[in-house]
Amino acid sequence: VVEIKDLHKSFGELEVLKGIDFTVDQGHVVCIIGPSGSGKSTLLRCVNLLEQPSKGTVRVGGVELTDPDVDIDAARRRLGMVFQSFNLFPHMTVLQNVMIAQRRVLKRGKGDAERIARENLEKVGVADKCDAFPPQLSGGQQQRVAIARALAMDPDLMLFDEPTSALDPELVGDVLSVMRKLARDGMTMLVVTHEMSFAREVADRVVFMDGGVVVEEGPPAQVIGAPRHERTRTFLKRVL
Ligand code: ATP
Ligand code: MG
Repeated sequence: VVEIKDLHKSFGELEVLKGIDFTVDQGHVVCIIGPSGSGKSTLLRCVNLLEQPSKGTVRVGGVELTDPDVDIDAARRRLGMVFQSFNLFPHMTVLQNVMIAQRRVLKRGKGDAERIARENLEKVGVADKCDAFPPQLSGGQQQRVAIARALAMDPDLMLFDEPTSALDPELVGDVLSVMRKLARDGMTMLVVTHEMSFAREVADRVVFMDGGVVVEEGPPAQVIGAPRHERTRTFLKRVL
């Protein structure tokens, strides 16, 4: 579904991505791990075109996002994005938060949008919070609403950037179990995470990034269980 080729990104003089290559197959979960500043967020932001790559190509579902003629809004609609901060509208109810993009972007009718919102809130276990406002929810509940909002758009691919790192430890598990369930249901996911046990258990492949390059990539049992590179071993020693 996703094909990243020779992706480069510079901010002025600073080259943050120095030629990234990897693919995510349909229905697979790929976890990206690596130290702070290695370019993980920048990579995700290039995949959903929040950043314009300096060089290289990103294809999602056969559409080359980096093609200057591509309809960026249409292409972006196929991607669901979940950030570390939940980015919900605080003055709208949970239900309205999950409906608004369906209404505005997909032009769904009110009834359909509400039904789909409720289904997805059910799926992530916060259906009882439909009429609450985000500030009244725990971080874990807010993050699950953010996941429901992304799912309601029927994405081909879900991107997650450290979705649990802003959460209190006791709330991390709820969000990870929603993500586990999505993976089991066959959602294609690209996940930046520091949760090594999640990566080990759920990922089909793990990508270890350091200094803007992919140092090592493979099944979790290899990259996390038996890393080949010294840089990977040093990183894992610090996080495990
Ligand atoms: P973390 O684990 O801390 O989230 P990361 O791997 O996600 O780190 P990035 O956020 O991708 O790292 O940042 C990689 C580098 O790019 C950093 O040195 C950062 O300062 C720089 N950078 C990111 N965005 C910009 C920007 N918009 N302008 C200038 N530099 C940027
Ligand atoms: Mg980051």
